Amino acid sequence: MLSQVKPIFEKSQPGRMGVALPSCDVPGDISSLLPENLRRSEDPGLPEVSEVDVIRHYTNLSQLNFGVDEGFYPLGSCTMKYNPKINENAARLCGFSNIHPLQPEKVCQGALKLMYDLSSMLAEITGMEAVTLQPAAGAHGELTGIFLIKAYHRKNGEEATRTKIIVPDSAHGTNPATASVAGYDVVEVKSNDRGNVDIEALKAAVGEDTAGIMLTNPNTLGLFEEDILQIAEIVHDAGGLLYYDGANANAILGKIRPGDMGFDVLHLNIHKSFSTPHGGGGPGSGAVGVGKRLLPFIPTPVVVEENGTYRFDYDIPDSIGKMRSFYGNFGVLVRAYAYILSMGAEGLKAAADNAVLNANYIMKRLEGDFEIPLASRVCKHEFVISGEKQHKENGVSTLDMAKRLMDHGVHPPTIYFPLIVHEAMMIEPTETEGKETLDRFVDAMLEIAKEAKEKPEIFHDAPYTTVVSRLDETLAARKPVLRWSPSER
Ligand SMILES: *Cc1c(COP(=O)(O)O)cnc(C)c1O
Repeated sequence: MLSQVKPIFEKSQPGRMGVALPSCDVPGDISSLLPENLRRSEDPGLPEVSEVDVIRHYTNLSQLNFGVDEGFYPLGSCTMKYNPKINENAARLCGFSNIHPLQPEKVCQGALKLMYDLSSMLAEITGMEAVTLQPAAGAHGELTGIFLIKAYHRKNGEEATRTKIIVPDSAHGTNPATASVAGYDVVEVKSNDRGNVDIEALKAAVGEDTAGIMLTNPNTLGLFEEDILQIAEIVHDAGGLLYYDGANANAILGKIRPGDMGFDVLHLNIHKSFSTPHGGGGPGSGAVGVGKRLLPFIPTPVVVEENGTYRFDYDIPDSIGKMRSFYGNFGVLVRAYAYILSMGAEGLKAAADNAVLNANYIMKRLEGDFEIPLASRVCKHEFVISGEKQHKENGVSTLDMAKRLMDHGVHPPTIYFPLIVHEAMMIEPTETEGKETLDRFVDAMLEIAKEAKEKPEIFHDAPYTTVVSRLDETLAARKPVLRWSPSER
């Protein structure tokens, strides 16, 4: 198998060709048309391979990876659902894919309408006043949102005194990182024994120096913050604003809106919740929605409509300005637009129902064999189990079990996050999986619990059936080999 990983350079044979270029039809000596200093003096050293060599090379490479088109991918806090292929067709329509960002507005009315309509739909879904589609990913959306909060306090003459952002201990790592990059001090509040923000701890943390709070609801334990209205009141009364991390919105679509919960600003990971797959490092989109308080500060330009004509509006005096070159990752926006239109309002609601049902189904089936903190509560789209029992009793860690899952043909869930659960394993099935897939996953997990008891030693070298088996993660982090080099062979 590993021989398939061989770089294409090594398959090169002098004189072999994959394409036949037409002969040059420029009259005269073309080499004299190029200035001397721009001419290539050495052979570029490109691989010389046949067409079948190239096709097999890339097809083999694609099969070394595990993808959502191949099997179950229950990556908690990273909604990784099936991506309807019709969205890909839509994004590839040449009117969308061949468009240039510097084209005049009058020749790209369709693209502007798509952005206008998508913003309106996302504003409706989240209960916000307006949505900017500029940010390139979730964390970039967070930065945009925190800049908006900062602009608001600046306008009120409080930028210098409101220096703190509150973040619960269950937060996604990007939240404190964003607050810190934006120049804020991060104050952590702990969770209570129901897995929610501890109200007394929150009251003690807020004050005249509070710029805002960053929350996810349902939180990263997959649990709904039942006291959200009280939390909003406490923060607003202290003069702070509320930021909603809407990266994984599956559980709330059509059910409840962050705007109605009291949030002033949010981001959505379009590349998680609205069907563009992520994880391969492809483009993302972190659309940001703003409520009344932050509307005056929204990034420019904004698409506006007048008598059926669309244009960019740059005239927003208090805007924080542009957050990105041009207008966002447009192809991702086309996929989201196609997804929302094909699902419809009822479809989005059904997605939320099924995401929650699927998560609860798995949680209940695993309950007897794994430690599940707070399994007594109904979870939302995801839940967290602890590998503490297997770790203590059998010396098998969560990492070992995650590796072993690959031998069962399943991509492991998110592990060691959130940090507040020991040996955490965070499972999010998403709405797109049927009962048979969920059962296969649960059966694999139960088999692993049994193996941990009966033959814990097999875990040390797992996985056995993948292209590469257990990696030395420390070496991989300290001495990563990131490019091919003939000298290392
Ligand atoms: C994925 C995720 C983010 C960050 O999104 P990126 O697009 O990776 O920057 C932020 N918050 C939560 C809860 C997430 O799951």
